[in-house]
Amino acid sequence: MVISVLVEINIDKVFDYNVPDNLKENICLGKRVLVPFGKQVLEGFIIDIKNKSNYELKDIISIVDNESILNDELLSLGKEISKSNVCNLTSVYQSMLPVGLKASKNRKVSIRKNTYIRLISDDVIEFISNTRSLKQKEIVSYLLKNKNALTTTFDSSSINALIKKGIIEKYSEEYYRLNDNNSIEDLVTLNEYQIKAYNEIKESSKDVILLNGVTGSGKTEIYMHLIKDALDNKKSAILLVPEISLTPQIIGRFKKHFNNIAVLHSGLSQGEKYDEYRKILNKEVNIVIGARSAIFAPLNDLGVIIIDEEHSQTYKQDHNPRYNAIDVAIIRGKTHNCKVILGSATPMVEDYARAKKGYYELVKLDKRANNASLPLINIVDMTKETKKGNKIFSEELLLSIEDRLNKHEQIMLLLNKRGYSNYLMCPNCGEVKKCPNCDITLTYHKTSNMNRCHYCGYADNNKEICSKCNTKLVNMGLGTEKVEEEINKLFPDAKVLRMDIDTTGNKGSHQKIIDKFMNHEADILVGTQMISKGLDFPLVTLVGVINADTILNLPDFRSSERTYDLISQVSGRAGRSNLKGKVVIQTYNPDNYAIKLVSSNNYEDFYNEEITIRKKLYYPPYSFIALIKVGGKDFNSTIKEANKIGDYLRRNVDKEIVLGPSVASLSKINNIYYFEIIIKYRDKDNIVNILNDVRKITLSNSKINVQFDINPISL
Ligand code: ADP
Ligand code: ZN
Repeated sequence: MVISVLVEINIDKVFDYNVPDNLKENICLGKRVLVPFGKQVLEGFIIDIKNKSNYELKDIISIVDNESILNDELLSLGKEISKSNVCNLTSVYQSMLPVGLKASKNRKVSIRKNTYIRLISDDVIEFISNTRSLKQKEIVSYLLKNKNALTTTFDSSSINALIKKGIIEKYSEEYYRLNDNNSIEDLVTLNEYQIKAYNEIKESSKDVILLNGVTGSGKTEIYMHLIKDALDNKKSAILLVPEISLTPQIIGRFKKHFNNIAVLHSGLSQGEKYDEYRKILNKEVNIVIGARSAIFAPLNDLGVIIIDEEHSQTYKQDHNPRYNAIDVAIIRGKTHNCKVILGSATPMVEDYARAKKGYYELVKLDKRANNASLPLINIVDMTKETKKGNKIFSEELLLSIEDRLNKHEQIMLLLNKRGYSNYLMCPNCGEVKKCPNCDITLTYHKTSNMNRCHYCGYADNNKEICSKCNTKLVNMGLGTEKVEEEINKLFPDAKVLRMDIDTTGNKGSHQKIIDKFMNHEADILVGTQMISKGLDFPLVTLVGVINADTILNLPDFRSSERTYDLISQVSGRAGRSNLKGKVVIQTYNPDNYAIKLVSSNNYEDFYNEEITIRKKLYYPPYSFIALIKVGGKDFNSTIKEANKIGDYLRRNVDKEIVLGPSVASLSKINNIYYFEIIIKYRDKDNIVNILNDVRKITLSNSKINVQFDINPISL
């Protein structure tokens, strides 16, 4: 017998091994095996079983698993993902699994076991009356009343004596690190709007349903009803939630109504993740709630797949393999013949377009379930404030903060500093330089003192003055830390908490900040987009967006969409109880359509504006985008290789649609230079085939490293 093995290291090759006779019986696709590899010993997945080979082969060393850990569905799903995302197959299989089950010769995660004792002798009554040892008598009497006892309950010399006498035996049993058994409550009765939406979902003949409901409209309750239906039909369910909203709050809500849930997210230890995953493998759960990679949960007979906050960027993995969990959900939905539900208050423009076109079913939910009103949103024009000398906080925001502090209510201040390079803006008229070809904000590069377009390579010399009104441009670059510092200066008596990547590094620190703020141990919470999702603080009556333009000016065609999402999400944090909420949005672009329309809560109008622009500029959903990143140590040879790839592409696809190579937005990381090629295309299959060819050709080129990002979520 010969097997093909995909070894743990990411080389794009499958190796054949011979199986010695004594191991044949246990060979099975999707199990891990230990194999000799050059001078090393590696682990790998069995991905093919053959009768024989024409070559002399090495023997495998051993089989790691008793059961397959990659079932047939996952094995073929992996191949599909690797092809459509133009990436390495091993990396796809590895990212489907928790650390403890990945192929790796250095596994560190173990199964936890408890050791018990139990009776094995029949004449214990006689033993009890005869023995002189009180301790041994106590153990035996205990085991007459109870089926077993943890070995740690009694002293070991007495236990050993009893084992020697053949009265009791030791045995061990696996247990899971996380365990709960709740009493289960009935689901809430849906209101008339929810029932209508629920019925539309149930009656739809489409594979994918977009549930577009404002925040608080009761989408989560509908999810629970859909999951219950699946379970009633002896099927299982997956619910994906963005990592950040996977708080105990939401998990608790589901555990109140369902048993048999496995939870998968990054807040768990490796051991906990391993155990949650084994619950699925052992068929002890039928609901999986988790972040992106939970879409690979090996549940059989899926009855429904739900993706909450479907517009969230976290569903796309930002490193290899760059898969999108929504695409995977749709493939799995087809395989299991089950519906995929995408839920959001602010859907991805591309998905909304698909729903409008009828590819997806569009189901709407326009009313808040508990009759709470949406907060009042005020836009503050910061160009006017700057003239008054107010750089960070407007008069209105400061007055509102003071007012809330006096009333002992709470305040959230958002500043999204993550992931943007600095850009220059005119403080007088708000002008930001855009690329003449792409209508995308130019990025200011300090070292070269140039403004560059990351799409097409356009660049112009930075003149430091606004071309419209001749004012000196200012460097935009304020962070949360600075905001916290300023607030402390202005309101020395107020207690301030900050939540961003820097303050949430340790396990549990994210939750600690949330708990503190919930207990009103602080008055003001300053944070990045981390504070925008899913949190429910009844005392928050004011939300301030310090600079709504940070995202708007990102060099990305989705920047307006992101701005709309973020502001609408964070606004939803204000006035969730009976206290009326207010939102202050500070911007230098008060007339921008995304900012204007989010303040009137008008997604439909926003969508209509946005889609016109997308059409005009041939951006998704009117095209697909592929991003090819070429990295290399030597600037000149890297650009030469990048040009070769560009030329190859122009020869093989319609050359109009190939842009670049141009210098990547992060042009040099760790002394590696990066160049980007962008393809805007319509013919999916053809482009993917050609890119896979490019991948094959460039793999052997040791001078460069080429990465492919199909439908990148940011550019
Ligand atoms: P969404 O997921 O759309 O943001 P939720 O499902 O979280 O909305 O609902 C918002 C709030 O309204 C929650 O506190 C929820 O328990 C409550 N709620 C939703 N539907 C109902 C209902 N039919 N009856 C009573 N309360 C409801
Ligand atoms: Zn351009």
